[in-house]
Amino acid sequence: MSTTEVLSLNQLDAIQAVDPEIHDLIRLEERRQANVIRLIPSENYASRAVMQATGTVLTNKYSEGYAGKRYYEGQEYIDQVERIAVERAKALFNMPHANVQPYSGSPANQAIYLALLEPGDKVMGMALPSGGHLTHGAKVSFSGKLYTPVPYTVSAKDHLLDFTEIRRIALEERPKLIFCGHSAYPRVLDFAKFAEIAKEVGAVLVSDIAHISGLVVSGAHPSPAGIVDIVSTTTHKTLRGPRGGMLLSREEYGAALDKAVFPGLQGGPHNHTTAAIAVALKEAATPEFTSYGHQIVRNAKALAEGLLSHGFRLITGGTENHLILIDITNKGLSGREAAKALAEAGIVANCNAIPFDTRKPFDPSGVRIGTPAITSRGMKEPEMKRIADWMAEVVASAGVAAVKARVAGEVRDLCASFPAPGISI
Ligand SMILES: *Cc1c(COP(=O)(O)O)cnc(C)c1O
Repeated sequence: MSTTEVLSLNQLDAIQAVDPEIHDLIRLEERRQANVIRLIPSENYASRAVMQATGTVLTNKYSEGYAGKRYYEGQEYIDQVERIAVERAKALFNMPHANVQPYSGSPANQAIYLALLEPGDKVMGMALPSGGHLTHGAKVSFSGKLYTPVPYTVSAKDHLLDFTEIRRIALEERPKLIFCGHSAYPRVLDFAKFAEIAKEVGAVLVSDIAHISGLVVSGAHPSPAGIVDIVSTTTHKTLRGPRGGMLLSREEYGAALDKAVFPGLQGGPHNHTTAAIAVALKEAATPEFTSYGHQIVRNAKALAEGLLSHGFRLITGGTENHLILIDITNKGLSGREAAKALAEAGIVANCNAIPFDTRKPFDPSGVRIGTPAITSRGMKEPEMKRIADWMAEVVASAGVAAVKARVAGEVRDLCASFPAPGISI
């Protein structure tokens, strides 16, 4: 790569001139992302094309409404951008209606509540400690405050979804809405089983595929298309786009969802994000993305195998998707202690509650890891084995600064051989 190419790839000259303090912090964060193994399963590396789209004049434009039905003039190009994003989303997810305006995954879910429920109505979703999301009825969230949550958990026996129990609760409580889709569940979701239950109790079924949408579009996870009523997703997790959200649905829910997003919840859409979503969706329709999606799962399985060989206890015994939930307590550490030690060694994960956790949410028993970001760097099974070995070593010597420093150096060396997309260091 020539010097000018590198410069143009990575120009932050205007920020540097106006605000050196923020410029330097961006550069430091860039370096951090390049030099560590990022295992937080909701994170990724957006491509340079996606990031460029977010840094454009599209941020200057107000576009309340939808393409062809805007409140302000001057939409001739914005309308085209949004239409392209919508069409690509519909085609990629194989759903008849798409809304690409939600500011993120949580506002997308909020719009579903606003579109379909009255305050106080019953909503069934996975309990937070079992791997559900805040917006599926958690007490601290709008969803649990304004609506009546009907939580289901995973089975206490094997930590898998227990459809007999889910059906029993649904029949007893008759929720209007059922959420399936989770932030910490390492297994494939059976959308058809949820759909059967939703049909039986007359509930609308939402699959929240925020974490797994990149796996779904690459065929590495079954698709909810044609099975569920509404699909909610973020655009920045495995889908590898900008931070944002999308709602896809059967035609009959489209108008209500659109109205709930605007004017119900939001004002002007973030057009620069819409453009970046369009770019990400184009990337996601390529054979390269399909390989990436399948490699994420292969990497997660290889990483799980490596960890099991070191005596780590994995929730459900392994993984079928992009994430692994470790019960770290048999290693003599709490989730937070383990995550902290790993981070000091250049391996960045997050502590996480495990199902039926007896520890407090701020210092739970689990560590959650995932393979999307390292797969985007091109790492494969041999690297997974090295990562598992490092994790075992660091967890066994969590208090030993020299071990963590040595591993951090080895991690940096490995990272240097796998350049991160969008970062030209
Ligand atoms: C990440 C996530 C969300 C919310 O996404 P934000 O963009 O952080 O608001 C919603 N649902 C699930 C299942 C998630 O994992």
